[in-house]
Formats: sequence, structure tokens, C-alpha cells
Amino acid sequence: MSALRLLPPPPPDEARRQAALDAYAVVGTVPEQAYDDIVRLAVTLCDVPAAAISLIDHDRQWFKAQIGLDVHETARSEAICDRTIRQPERVLVVEDLLKHPELPRPSLRVDGDPLRFYAGVPLLSPDGEPLGVMCVLDNKPRTLTAAQREGLEVLARQTQHLLELRRYAMEQRRLLSEREAFAQRLEDARAELQRRNDLLEHSATHDALTGLLNRAALSQLRDNPEAMLQLQQAPYTLMLLDVDHFKDVNDRHGHLLGDRALRAVADAVATSIRERDIAVRYGGEEFLILLPDTRLASAVQVAERIRQRIAVAPLPFALTVSMGLAAGEPTRDWSEQVFDRADQALYRAKATGRNRVVVDDTPMHG
Ligand code: GH3
Ligand code: MG
Ligand code: MG
Repeated sequence: MSALRLLPPPPPDEARRQAALDAYAVVGTVPEQAYDDIVRLAVTLCDVPAAAISLIDHDRQWFKAQIGLDVHETARSEAICDRTIRQPERVLVVEDLLKHPELPRPSLRVDGDPLRFYAGVPLLSPDGEPLGVMCVLDNKPRTLTAAQREGLEVLARQTQHLLELRRYAMEQRRLLSEREAFAQRLEDARAELQRRNDLLEHSATHDALTGLLNRAALSQLRDNPEAMLQLQQAPYTLMLLDVDHFKDVNDRHGHLLGDRALRAVADAVATSIRERDIAVRYGGEEFLILLPDTRLASAVQVAERIRQRIAVAPLPFALTVSMGLAAGEPTRDWSEQVFDRADQALYRAKATGRNRVVVDDTPMHG
């Protein structure tokens, strides 16, 4: 029988010990075959009616696996296993508990009778922190042979391996989910960057007041192969729109209503054109509309629709616009001449009384 001290030494660093146990997150888990098998082997090996894998958790001992006992946990104060872990370097064998008044009298029963025999091998973390005990129990006095004792130590080591495996698997899962969380944060940051980039790009190419393209976007048109291809493939029409007497609108109704009028013009334009048409606010109250693959005749209808929509726009004053249209022939570049001809047509619209659509009639390539 191992030398028992009357007063066990104070527990080693209990907080550290408890933290070591907590790291396995095993206390309170459901039974597992691997641990059950070990206690089964222990009772066979030691020829006893009861065995347990006891973990010392705060103020209780909790059995991860047990055979032959009537409980799954007891108070720590009555646990002989608690004495075992206070001397983690040695195996505690109590041949007859009645001969050891210094030890607690556990209330648990072995096959219905009080405990008499106890043998426990400490279960240690790799750092040597005692987590619990692999123990065998009997309701009558007895002893262990050297082989049984050695076998019990082997089973304790196997239990430690199981616990390590469990912690390793948990650590892997934790690393994996950390990596996934990191990847998610990275993806969120990338999406946010993209969103800001899109916003920046949008505000660089769009007019804040009307939401139409701005002048900068117009000068980028030449660098847009898709748009240029459209203009190279079929006749197109260029429209210029200028609000009539807009200075008066501002003077009479103020800038705020003036701005509202500009938005009404933009809305009339946007709702009258197709998706692939290009509408640009290229001056204060001047708009350019490019209609790819559109001949003058149908462009005039679009222009009239815009003009009429503006005439009935929900504004507290009458608003009219003048428009000049010019046809463009497919070309590698969209000609300045087309713009000039549209501008001349617009000038004529103004000169002949405003509130009208005028088509350029100068000979092409002139
Ligand atoms: P016309 O019929 O000959 O085109 O006369 P107009 O008064 O429209 O022509 P003009 O070019 O002399 O005046 C344009 C006015 O548009 C001048 C300016 O105060 C106003 N304007 C330009 N940009 C804005 C804007 O963003 N908001 C407002 N409210 N007014 C603007
Ligand atoms: Mg103008
Ligand atoms: Mg004007």
C-alpha cells in the first residue's frame, strides 16, 4: 500500500489545474464508447465490480465513464480521487477504507454496498496538471497485483491520449473557424472597398443633380469600346437639348426650383430613351443624347416625346426646351462635325421661337 500522509498537501495551483481541465471541454459531455471501453477493461483487468474515469471539476468529481456505481458525480469533499490528484506522481491504493480514518467516506455505493477498496491512477495533462483519476473500486477489501496495477496505469495513459485527441480536434475546429472568420472579414472588406470604389466611380462619371452622365463621362466615351462599336456599326443620332429661358426660371422662381426643373428635364429624357442610349448633362441646362443605331426619323419621335413630357412636367411654372438633332454615319470616331451640326440645329430652334425640335439639314460629310 502506498504511503499515505495524514494531511494531504494543499492542492497545487488549483486555478491552473482547473483551467487545464476546462481546456478539454469534456466535463458534462455525453458518454462515449472509447471511454466506456476503458472502464470495462479496467473492471475485467482488476477483477473488481466498479471502475470510473473521474474528473475533478471545481467542487465535484464528475465521471466521464463509470461501471458499477450508482451515481455520475459526487461532491469533491467526499472524493478519494481528490486525494489522488494531490499526489499526482503516485498511484493511490487503499486496500481497506475502514483502516484509513483520515480519508473521506464516500456516500456512493458499489453494487449497493459502501466503498471499501480504492485504487486510482492520476490523469495528467501534458504539462503535468492533474485532471482526474482512472480508478477501480470494490465493496470489499482487496489489493492489486503488480500486473493489475501496471495495467491500470496503461489504461490511464490511454485515457490521457483520448483526452489529448479530443483537445487536438477541438483546436483544429477552432483554427478552422478562425480561418473562416478571417476569410469572411477579408471578403467583407473587399466588398466594402468595391462598394466605395463603385460609388467613387459613379460620382466621377455622373451628375449629382440629375443622375445622368456628366461631361467627364462623355469624354471617356471614346475609350469605351462597347459604345464605340455601336456607333461604328450603324447610323446614329445626336441630340442637343437646351432649356428655354432658363435664366428667367432661376430669376423668377429661385435656384431651388431651377434645380427641380433640371431634374424634371433629366427624368423626361431618361424615361424616353432606351437602355443603350446615352444621356449626358454636359452644361448647366444643356443635355446631350446619343441614340446608337437610330435614324433621324425615329430620333425625332424620341425628341418630341421628351419635349412633350417636359411640357407637362409637374412644376409650378411652364417649362420648355429646344432641341437640335443631327445624323451620324458609322465611323471609327464620333465626329465633332455631328456635334456642330446638332448645335446649329439647336441654334435654329432657338432662333425660330424655341420649344421645338429642329433637324440638321446640311449635307453630310460637308
Ligand atoms: P435660352 O432660351 O436662350 O437658352 O436662355 P437661357 O436663359 O436658358 O440661356 P442661358 O445660357 O443664358 O442661361 C442658362 C442659365 O442656366 C444660366 C444659369 O444661371 C442657369 N444654370 C446653369 N446651371 C444651373 C444649375 O445647375 N442650376 C440652376 N438652378 N441653374 C443653372
Ligand atoms: Mg444654354
Ligand atoms: Mg437655355
